[in-house]
Amino acid sequence: MANLRFALVCGGVLACGAACAAGQNTPSDVPPVIDVHVHAMDESFPGGGPMCPNEAKFLASDPKTKEAPFGWDVENCTPKLYPSAKGEYLKDMKAEMERLNVTAVVFGDEAGVKKWQDAMPGRVIPGTSFTAGMGTGRVPLDKLRQEFTSGGFKVMGEIGLQYEGLSPSDMSVDQYFALAEELDIPVAIHMGTGGSGRANITTPKFRGSAGNPLLLEDLLARHPKLRVQVMHAGYPMIDNMLTLLQANSHVYVDVAGLIWSYPLSEVNRYIQRLVDAGFEDRVMFGTDQMEWPKLMAYSISIIQNADYLTPEQKRDILYNNAARFLRLDQKAK
Ligand SMILES: [Zn+2]
Repeated sequence: MANLRFALVCGGVLACGAACAAGQNTPSDVPPVIDVHVHAMDESFPGGGPMCPNEAKFLASDPKTKEAPFGWDVENCTPKLYPSAKGEYLKDMKAEMERLNVTAVVFGDEAGVKKWQDAMPGRVIPGTSFTAGMGTGRVPLDKLRQEFTSGGFKVMGEIGLQYEGLSPSDMSVDQYFALAEELDIPVAIHMGTGGSGRANITTPKFRGSAGNPLLLEDLLARHPKLRVQVMHAGYPMIDNMLTLLQANSHVYVDVAGLIWSYPLSEVNRYIQRLVDAGFEDRVMFGTDQMEWPKLMAYSISIIQNADYLTPEQKRDILYNNAARFLRLDQKAK
């Protein structure tokens, strides 16, 4: 998570694919979508509220004044994206995911992810991490091993080392990546976005430089079979992201968070650059879904409306690339 507007943090693979995910409430003509980046929240978070996606500006602030916890311009839009009513978020998400035929990788702790699985059986691919929110706490290695061997978890993420100012190649966390490689579990690492324009106020350990995609090189050299999902596609470090993708064919990216957090022309330019550079089979759709149920449909529409993508490229980004990365059993164009 974490390129957060409100500067908060969140802190055989799937048994079945699209065919069994499609439930009774999904219209039969809706092609399947995989969202590879959802957080297992079940309520709004403090400081959240209605939101306008793709705001156009980051604004300066003066340290002599009381500064907002984020630097986005406050804009008006119609319609805003609204949080759910109290206690309704999971129910709303279930309805949206059925309507849009979405299966999601949902990240969180065991209890949080289980709530999502119980609420929408067949639509959740469970993920969990060794980093706990924005803190520097670590989940014990043995517990993580249990979660991935007998606990049913399929993806190790969201790994939020950038919020600690740590490189993913730091040796203090190497044992976790070694475990993922040993168990053949893909890892999902926050890289790039964040700080929300007020990193010095809200997340003082955050370092933009710790999100440099090239920091993954040493890790990938140590663990040549590791499969990596660079969350937020290393935005905005496109040249380094392309360099890493060229060098390492086990690396995929997701466009979560960035797809709705930055100016729309910039978002499209970034995705187009990834595709035009030849990586259309490594770009995965994601939202960084946290509290606005309509964010998923909104984010899908950005891919659907991208005039620089062919229909095949849209399907690859919305489904096929993630199905391949996650090794889902079934492929559905
Ligand atoms: Zn993130």
